[in-house]
Amino acid sequence: MKRNILALIRPWGGQVETANGRFFVRCPPGAEGEVEDALAHTLGIAGWARTRKCEKNVEALIGACVEEGKSLFGKGVSSFKIEARRTDKSFPLDSYGIRCRAGRAVEEAVPGLKVDVRSPQALIEVEIREKAYVFAMARRGLRGLPVGTAGRGLLLLSGGIDSPVAGFMMASRGMGIDGLYFHASPYTSEEARQKAIRLASILGRYALGLRLYTAGFTAVELRIKERAPEPWLTVLLRMAMMECAEKLARRIKAKCLITGESLSQVASQTVENVSCTQSRVSLPVLRPLIGLDKEDIIRRAEAIGTYETSILPYQDCCVLFSPPHPVLRGRAGEAGELYEKLELGPLIEEALDKKILEKCGFPAGDLHPVGLGLFGQ
Ligand code: ATP
Ligand code: MG
Repeated sequence: MKRNILALIRPWGGQVETANGRFFVRCPPGAEGEVEDALAHTLGIAGWARTRKCEKNVEALIGACVEEGKSLFGKGVSSFKIEARRTDKSFPLDSYGIRCRAGRAVEEAVPGLKVDVRSPQALIEVEIREKAYVFAMARRGLRGLPVGTAGRGLLLLSGGIDSPVAGFMMASRGMGIDGLYFHASPYTSEEARQKAIRLASILGRYALGLRLYTAGFTAVELRIKERAPEPWLTVLLRMAMMECAEKLARRIKAKCLITGESLSQVASQTVENVSCTQSRVSLPVLRPLIGLDKEDIIRRAEAIGTYETSILPYQDCCVLFSPPHPVLRGRAGEAGELYEKLELGPLIEEALDKKILEKCGFPAGDLHPVGLGLFGQ
């Protein structure tokens, strides 16, 4: 966790220390906004606040609380409550004493700002430890687990709305993410590939960097189109993507595949067709969106900052296929037989040999605003 925070704030001169179960982040004056934005992108953080540090005596502490009260009032807050925690029991006031004294002092010093213990608009929090700290307006972090604590997974990243969200969800369980994007050049454009790179960059800010492999699948798609019955085109393409992804995953030592599939969202994502796509691979396929509906996925995409990019109108690699009557409940046995006839092995190998690696998101990534409201509030 400490290493991850440091990696994200170091570009702005930030530093981090740990003491008694808290991280203390320091940054040069003027860099607070960037450092807070970095914290907003750091998975594993419950929350943070800018804090006033003061000497451990009652007078200094009350003074800091009053300053905090003034600042809150200036932001339009009219009611507050003091919360106090004391790890240093030698401080002359206990937490109840701090709450009473500081509450009264703030009320007296800031007319118009009143104590309300039941439903205050803001909390002023006091912590007495090796120094005294006073803060308000704590912000909620992304929570989840620190990236790097749960192995690496290979995300099948399309240019759509769903797969970036799927990648974020696994990163938020601590997984490092590599990405694989298939294009069908010249049927799909360079802009479409750049869009996937852009999505990977946004995701890469959360995932502490993302290596995106882009691979040309045109030959595979043309072979499928030439040899397979039309209703099966999409399912067979997904099977080929899975086989290719698994081969890459084994080479780069990713422990699982990740997709943005959501049950019955489209014909290729019925439970039967998902069984077909899975039938060619033995690595676990994680599908974190499987039980979410599209609206929920869109809200998450907006919150992590990928939505605007995902809806840019470039053709994705299914442009060659849009069967009017796709199979809805493919049988894995039949899918396997059809798949064997395609003899895709060499074409998949070729796609892998010619893949291009893009390093996305970190440390060179741009800043993206994130909406924090969604995650667990
Ligand atoms: P998305 O919004 O993620 O594109 P979708 O609803 O369009 O999802 P499909 O196009 O059927 O669904 O794709 C299902 C999953 O297959 C995607 O979530 C993604 O993980 C993977 N996938 C689809 N197309 C590609 C591609 N061109 N490159 C890499 N992975 C892909
Ligand atoms: Mg798609």
